[in-house]
Amino acid sequence: MRKKIAAANWKMNLTLQQGEQLLTDILLKPHDLKAHQQALFAVPFPYLPMAVNKLAGKNNVFVAAQNCSNKKSGAYTGEVSVEILQSVGIEYVVLGHSERREYFNESNQLLAEKLDICLANNMKPIFCCGEPLAIREANTQNEFVAKQLAESLYHLSAAQLQEIVIAYEPIWAIGTGKTATSAQAQEIHAFIRAELAAKYGAAIADSISILYGGSVKASNAVELFSQPDVDGGLVGGASLIVDEFVAIINALP
Ligand code: PEP
Repeated sequence: MRKKIAAANWKMNLTLQQGEQLLTDILLKPHDLKAHQQALFAVPFPYLPMAVNKLAGKNNVFVAAQNCSNKKSGAYTGEVSVEILQSVGIEYVVLGHSERREYFNESNQLLAEKLDICLANNMKPIFCCGEPLAIREANTQNEFVAKQLAESLYHLSAAQLQEIVIAYEPIWAIGTGKTATSAQAQEIHAFIRAELAAKYGAAIADSISILYGGSVKASNAVELFSQPDVDGGLVGGASLIVDEFVAIINALP
């Protein structure tokens, strides 16, 4: 069975103290993660050791970085390498979030390099893709997402691809309160899976978790996650609210 994942993306929010309190409060609430379910917290770089310590020993709960460098090490001031992340116990990294693509000019090619350095070093990427509003309005989202997949992923071997989690995030739904309908999410998730199947075969495509991101909240998570090709969510705003995120974890099928 594919992994079902509720991934929190704190972005550039909360102080260390607020972040620690949020994790404390979430851990106090009942959530019963089954073997095929995971909760993941993508927190700001300086909070990674705190989150690793706080979540140590919790089954199926992981900490992720929100980005990493495409370079191994060296004179890259302000960057954080895969090796640095691993030295503080990190196994997952979010790559290619639309905010990084938009504000930090991350291209499909750069993301291909970041994926390579992660996969060469056993760091598991959560690879984000998704279209802006103008593309959705022109109804060319499939072509747009297919290009993102082709240019960043298709040089990978099947074994490497299986280490990746994909997050489809329509940019028009991120932080806007607008959510794709569950039918819209299912349609493009099925398209992404079909594209992966065409390139890597159905068995590989079927094994890959594809998360939906874009204003997921407690009130829509059950409906979105009940779609056959939606394997959980990457959650921004609602992941900062204890009861919302706990409900989203508990909505995982
Ligand atoms: C995100 O941060 O990836 C995201 C989808 O944000 P939000 O849930 O706030 O739309």
